[in-house]
Amino acid sequence: MWQKDWRERLWASAKDQQWDIIIVGGGITGAGILREAARIGLKVLLVEQGDFASGTSSRSSKLVHGGLRYLKTGQWRLTLESVRERERLMRESGGLVTLQGFVTAVFKGRKPGYWMMRFGLFLYDLMARKRRFRSLGPAEVEMLAPRIRQDSLRGGFWYPDAQTDDARLTLRVIQEAQRDGAAAANYVRATELMFDEGQVAGVRVKDMLSGEDHPLYARLVINAAGAWCDRLRLQVGGQVSIRPLRGSHLVFDYADLPCAQAVSFFHAEDGRPVFAVPWDGRVILGTTDLDHDGDLDAEPRCSLEEAEYLLRAINDMFPRNPLSLEQAIASYAGVRPVIASGKALNPSEESREHALWQEKGLLSITGGKLTTYRTTALEVLQAAAEQIPEADKLDAEAPILASTRPVRHASLGALSARRLLGRYGAAVHDMLAQADEADLQPIRDTQYLWIELRWAAQHEAVMHLQDLMLRRTRLGLVLSDGGVGLLPRVRELCQAALGWDDQRWELEAGEYQRQWQANYAPPDRQEGSYA
Ligand SMILES: Cc1cc2nc3c(=O)[nH]c(=O)nc-3n(C[C@H](O)[C@H](O)[C@H](O)COP(=O)(O)OP(=O)(O)OC[C@H]3O[C@@H](n4cnc5c(N)ncnc54)[C@H](O)[C@@H]3O)c2cc1C
Repeated sequence: MWQKDWRERLWASAKDQQWDIIIVGGGITGAGILREAARIGLKVLLVEQGDFASGTSSRSSKLVHGGLRYLKTGQWRLTLESVRERERLMRESGGLVTLQGFVTAVFKGRKPGYWMMRFGLFLYDLMARKRRFRSLGPAEVEMLAPRIRQDSLRGGFWYPDAQTDDARLTLRVIQEAQRDGAAAANYVRATELMFDEGQVAGVRVKDMLSGEDHPLYARLVINAAGAWCDRLRLQVGGQVSIRPLRGSHLVFDYADLPCAQAVSFFHAEDGRPVFAVPWDGRVILGTTDLDHDGDLDAEPRCSLEEAEYLLRAINDMFPRNPLSLEQAIASYAGVRPVIASGKALNPSEESREHALWQEKGLLSITGGKLTTYRTTALEVLQAAAEQIPEADKLDAEAPILASTRPVRHASLGALSARRLLGRYGAAVHDMLAQADEADLQPIRDTQYLWIELRWAAQHEAVMHLQDLMLRRTRLGLVLSDGGVGLLPRVRELCQAALGWDDQRWELEAGEYQRQWQANYAPPDRQEGSYA
């Protein structure tokens, strides 16, 4: 938890310190490294130029999955590792990573073919060491995926994967590291590496809120800056390696796209996989995969072209009630930090494996998946054994997330209690202790409770209103107009806790609405929507 005045105290103490490790990047990769480093007693600091998870790690498809499609491209190691991590995360995350059933229909003359799919699912189960997939007849497919296309439907399959809230997973991993003594600061940008005898000895950072610069020294600097990773690498003579690929999603009301189970299928035009996944009380539809030519410092957004591509996919699979863009509640886009093969491959053919570089003492990590963040973190720290001999204490069997006593509260149902436990970990008990009956009411049409907003404002390093609406909670994704209608009540609950005067609140509210309109509204409603 971030206590009041944490920022001032960090800068007051940070100046004269020698850190063991400074991590640049507060997405899931940096968070995972922070967590594992803190676990072995290292003095470690993470700096994030925007909000935690504001890069790709709040913009994924929210799946903790093996990635069936990676089997097709022969990425066995990635699939095996992902399946094993999925199993552990489901067991140990206490409600943050949960099972998600998928349905894939099989049609005569279309991909996937029945035997191909069956073989893939057999391997998938084998990797998890559990027999779980099931064959379905056409009526069962229709029951699990109502309104699915009927012509040439032969049947299909049901199989389990998992889903999460990516931004909350990132935050929970950071918070668990804090409990072991780690420090993490958002809105702090690493601007320039500092050298001693040709080796990286620290990094100059800029507090993006105050504008102040601070030199910070460490035995090791780890560059976990995702799609931005090449920027620091260029300062140590590295080559540009990232091929930024944008992926976008649309968010729909369950009533418009009633998927009780997730539905996965291939786009009729290009054979790319598309998912419709029930998530946070809504359904998300994604994703696209195309070269992102935009400025990495500007927020990515879903283009009209991508939205139409996704609509064509879903309307081909569910032709009886075609969806229109007007029905979408929100959209979001993220940039995959994919390692360029250098070959003229289609975006979807590029490998999703991660890569590591050690250059003049700077250790850079990028690529990979949300699902495998922990194994990636362990690999990174093992690779740093020369600078960090304590890496020999790393324990791959240590609990991924700390287990906490269950939540029992007269005003909460079992599902709600489990949801809170997963999102807040050990802090949930303190949160509930300060909640009154009104705080424990759900926010209309969502699974969120009012207390979550106040708790986040008090303890979760909220620096801007969008941190609260888009990442601590995901109200900006699940409510039409980004939940702007809730802002007066959010103000009553949170303004004092945030320490903002009326002028600051007005500024933040205006900026949030502008941001949402430009980057999260469905594209035909975005200002200056691009094609
Ligand atoms: C559309 C899409 C769907 C996806 N779906 C899935 C999925 O379902 N399952 C899955 O497992 N994976 C999925 N992924 C992949 C996964 O989301 C990413 O691999 C993962 O989030 C990358 O995390 P990261 O921490 O490396 O990068 P990021 O989350 O981008 O974090 C890097 C951070 O570094 C910060 N930064 C950059 N430069 C600096 C600097 N100079 N100083 C300080 N901070 C800096 C950035 O602001 C950023 O927050 C998906 C990706 C996309 C784009």
